[in-house]
Amino acid sequence: MLNQILIVGAGFAGSVCARELAEAGHEILVVDRRDHIAGNAFDVKDEHGILIHQYGPHIFHTNSERIFNYLSKYTEWYQYEHRVRGVVDGKEYPFPINRDTLNQLYDLNLTEEQAAEFYEKVREPTERVLTSEDVVLNSVGRDLYEKFFLNYTKKQWGLDPSQLKAGVAARIPTRTNSDDRYFTDTYQAMPLHGYTAMFENLLNHPNIKVQLATEYKDWLKQNLQYDHMVYTGCIDEFYDYKFGKLPYRSLRFEHQHLENTEQYQSVGTINYPNDFEFTRITEFKHLTGQKHPATSIVQEYPTAEGDPYYPIPRDENEQLFKKYQALANAEENVTFVGRLAEYRYYNMDQVVGAALNAVDKILERK
Ligand code: FAD
Ligand code: UDP
Repeated sequence: MLNQILIVGAGFAGSVCARELAEAGHEILVVDRRDHIAGNAFDVKDEHGILIHQYGPHIFHTNSERIFNYLSKYTEWYQYEHRVRGVVDGKEYPFPINRDTLNQLYDLNLTEEQAAEFYEKVREPTERVLTSEDVVLNSVGRDLYEKFFLNYTKKQWGLDPSQLKAGVAARIPTRTNSDDRYFTDTYQAMPLHGYTAMFENLLNHPNIKVQLATEYKDWLKQNLQYDHMVYTGCIDEFYDYKFGKLPYRSLRFEHQHLENTEQYQSVGTINYPNDFEFTRITEFKHLTGQKHPATSIVQEYPTAEGDPYYPIPRDENEQLFKKYQALANAEENVTFVGRLAEYRYYNMDQVVGAALNAVDKILERK
C-alpha cells in the first residue's frame, strides 16, 4: 500500500491517474503550477458569460468505447460534430479536402468515383512516405498542397512540411465523398457543462487533495515524503535539460468578444493557411451550443517561445527524447505520462488511455 502519491499536473494525464489511484485506496496529492485544474483543456466563462477554452479549441472525439464510457462517469455530453473550413484566395472551402472542395475550387461537378480519379491524376506518388510533405503530395498533389497545407504548416510549426514526420499531416484525411466533418470517430461530443466541470468531478474524491499554483520542486523542498510520483510535465525540464532542451511549439491565444454579433462565422473553426499570422479562428458557441446574443472567438498565433503545447514530431527530436526516456524508464518511483512527459502528439482520448495504462502498471508494480 502506498501512503502518498504525488501527481504533478492536473490535466487529463494527472487527473485520470489521481482518480484511479485514489479509487485503489491511495492518498493522492495533485500539484499544478497553474492556478486552475484541467491543464490545456481548461474552460471558463469569460467576463461576458460565454464559455471559452483558454488554451484553444478542444473537441472531444474517440473511437474507444472504453474511454468514452470512462469519461461518461464524470460528465454528461453535448452532441457536437466539429466542422472546419479553409480559406483560399478569400473563399471558404470544406476542410479536410473532400469532393465538394474539389468541385467548388475547380468549378467541377465530380461524382465520388470521379473525385477518386481526380486525386489519382494529380497525386505525386512517393515510394516512401516519410515526411508530412510526402503524405500530402502523395494523396492530393502539389496544387492542393500549396493551397491548403504548405503555408499553414510553416506557420504552425515554423518548419517546412518536409521537415516534419508524416504523422502530423496524416492527422488530416482526404475524402472522395461530401462528408465535411473534421472527425469521423464513433464518439464525438463535448462535456455538457464544460471540461473544467468534468475535471472537478474527476478530482472530487476523499483521497485526493489538489494544490494549485504550486511548482512541484518547491513542494518537494518542503515535503520529502512521497512513495511514488506521477509526472505529467515536460520530461526535459524534469531532468534540468541535461541533454539539452527538447523543442515544444507554443501558441499565443488572442481571445476577443464581439458585441452585437450573434454568430461570427459559419462553422466552429476557420483555417487561414495563406493569410494572417494566426492559423485559425474558433468561435466557441458552435462548440458548446451556448445561446447568447454576442459571441467570443480565439485566434491562434504560433510561437517558438512560451508555454509548451505541442511536441514537434521530427527524427532529431525523437532522438533527444529517447535519451531522456532512457532515464525515465530507469526510475523506480516516478511514472511519466501525458503529452509533455511522453513527448507525443496525443489527443485527449489518447492521454486518457495512456493514463489508465500507466495506473495499471503502477498498481501491478507496487
Ligand atoms: P496538460 O494538459 O499540458 O497538463 C499538464 C499539466 O502539468 C499542466 O497543467 C501544467 O501546468 C502542469 N505542470 C507541468 N510542469 C509542472 C511543474 N513543474 N509543477 C507543477 N505543475 C506542472 N486534443 C483533442 O483530443 N481534441 C482537440 O480538439 C484538441 N485541441 C487542442 C488544441 C490546442 C491548441 C492544444 C494545445 C491541444 C489540443 N489538444 C486536443 C490536445 C490536448 O490538449 C492534450 O492531449 C491534453 O490536454 C494533454 O493532457 P496532459 O495532461 O498530458 O497535459
Ligand atoms: N494542417 C494544414 N492545413 C490546415 C489544417 C492542418 O496544413 O488547414 C496540417 C498542419 O501541419 C497541422 C496538421 O495538419 O499542424 C494537423 O492539423 P490539426 O488540425 O489536427 O492540428 P491541431 O488541432 O492538433 O493543432
